[in-house]
Amino acid sequence: MAHEHTPAAGIAEAPAFSSAIDLDTLNGASPEDLLAWAAGFGERAAILTSFQKTGCVMIDMAHRAGLGLRVVTVDTLRLHPETYELMAQIEARYHIAIERFEPDPQRLQRMLDEHGEFLFFDSRPKQEHCCWIRKVEPNDRALRTLDVWITGLRHDQSTHRTGVPKATWVEKGGRRLLKLAPLVAWSEDEVDAYLDRYGVPSNTLYDQGYASIGCMICTTPIRPGEDKRAGRWRWFNQYEGDHKKECGIHVDGSGI
Ligand code: SF4
Repeated sequence: MAHEHTPAAGIAEAPAFSSAIDLDTLNGASPEDLLAWAAGFGERAAILTSFQKTGCVMIDMAHRAGLGLRVVTVDTLRLHPETYELMAQIEARYHIAIERFEPDPQRLQRMLDEHGEFLFFDSRPKQEHCCWIRKVEPNDRALRTLDVWITGLRHDQSTHRTGVPKATWVEKGGRRLLKLAPLVAWSEDEVDAYLDRYGVPSNTLYDQGYASIGCMICTTPIRPGEDKRAGRWRWFNQYEGDHKKECGIHVDGSGI
């Protein structure tokens, strides 16, 4: 993959990873400029996506600009068939190989032996344990390959994400990495308009009322007026409200 690019206007060429990075400049940059700047880090930068709409937009943007950014995902092995289908579509359309980080087989087997396949119904701690085994730990492994973590978080995805900055430092595994959310200020309409304009494929589950897509069973469609992540672990809603709707991947000091 080629990683050379011309630095975007207003953003200095990426230096060797250092505290010289100016967050104010990055926070003022356009999504396209931010992606182009991140591509300067080569293999140490990646779009880390679960193939929500914003991930698809960023993959398309990066492809259009010829950036050659890595595309990385966590495959929990419990994703919807529609999500696997979308991944195949994206690989074919952009001629890329999506890098999949899966649960550690031994840890996964131990969890299944001890608690069964559907432990997430039992209690919040068991759901969090499952999310740690299937999502958080593989995600942490993926992050160890990166200095620049590009996510598709947006402010209006949930009440928990309204304060997410476009660029910020986060601590992971005892070191700092730069977390970028290029589309953080985009509205749902802007995302949809981009997808329509360029004919970018997105998950067909959106047509069935899903607003946020994760694992099967744990993700359900939402009703009008509900928080976009209300469909996650819906069986906890009756006594918890929507105040615990993050699986742990984005609870990292970046504002959520
Ligand atoms: S969303 Fe559900 S199945 Fe997926 S990792 Fe979390 S608890 Fe497990």
